[in-house]
Amino acid sequence: MPLFEYDCPGCGRPFEKLVRSASQADAVLCPACGNPHVKRKLSTFAVKGSSAGSRAAPVAVSPGGL
Ligand SMILES: [Zn+2]
Repeated sequence: MPLFEYDCPGCGRPFEKLVRSASQADAVLCPACGNPHVKRKLSTFAVKGSSAGSRAAPVAVSPGGL
């Protein structure tokens, strides 16, 4: 399940929500004030099983390093 991040313009609190579908992602209320008009930010991980099994750690790339 993708984890989406939201910003609530009502109370100004960011929060995260696990959603199953895009329609559910649009029907999210702010857990703090119940505002239905929250803004969805870019998801932290919206990966759908691409390159399964590979756990590549993020490595800082320096051009011409070695
Ligand atoms: Zn709120």
